[in-house]
Amino acid sequence: MNRFTDKIALVTGASRGIGKAIAVRLASEGAHVVVNYARDVDGATSVVAEIEAAGGTANAYQADVSDIDAAAAMIKAVAKDHGKIDILVNNAGTTRDQLIMKMSEDDWDSVMRINLKGVFNCAKPAVRAMMRKRYGRIINISSVSGVLGNAGQTNYSASKAGVIGFTRALAREVAGRSITVNAVAPGFIPTKLTGDMPEDLQDATLAMIPLARWGQAEEIANAVAFLASDEAAYITGQTLNVDGGMAIG
Ligand code: NAD
Repeated sequence: MNRFTDKIALVTGASRGIGKAIAVRLASEGAHVVVNYARDVDGATSVVAEIEAAGGTANAYQADVSDIDAAAAMIKAVAKDHGKIDILVNNAGTTRDQLIMKMSEDDWDSVMRINLKGVFNCAKPAVRAMMRKRYGRIINISSVSGVLGNAGQTNYSASKAGVIGFTRALAREVAGRSITVNAVAPGFIPTKLTGDMPEDLQDATLAMIPLARWGQAEEIANAVAFLASDEAAYITGQTLNVDGGMAIG
């Protein structure tokens, strides 16, 4: 399947984990992928190499998405170099878990700055480029923690719930220009982000998953690829839970 031939896709935080899986997947279906990274130049370079070895095209672009000027410069450069941005995947994210009594202002602010403001920082200039072309797909990576709430993650859950509200509002703003905006809310996927979880918490989490297994980054990439494709042209403002059933109401 080559659903993304001639499409330019930018994936933030794509040097590893879920972002890497999304970048590899979009490229495998013909997109030219811009692999954004904040600090991990080696990781980003190896993702580009993996994509190229499989016959795709990609390049790496450094920018800290929580820095509004850096994010704007990245989007501007991608639009200039490639003439457009068709697909933006706001994947970059972080955690600073702590019960609220122990959570510092910096724990709160840094998670908000990366997970929520980072989405604004990239979406705003991307929308400008997409409006000119009257086409665009924006996919924001939320979390089951933003849907259900998770103890010890007031900052993270609030940021990811914020991403869902942002997605709904922006979808309404840009629908008239054939730009869709959706969110994907992963459940628990083994990556560096979840690797630090204590074993007892990992076991407790597994017990909450109806499908009784952790997810794979590629399963998140499948959902993102669907929402980025023409098959999803009539879907906007939605949050697709990819969580083994954790968020079943
Ligand atoms: P990860 O830590 O492996 O990857 C996160 C990526 O974001 C890294 O490449 C990191 O360098 C990058 N990043 C962090 N801050 C950045 C910044 N300021 N600018 C640019 N890049 C930055 O974790 P992951 O599990 O692959 O997470 C990817 C996304 O999925 C995140 O938004 C995360 O919140 C979300 N998510 C993950 C899970 C899970 O179980 N792993 C569940 C729900 C949601």
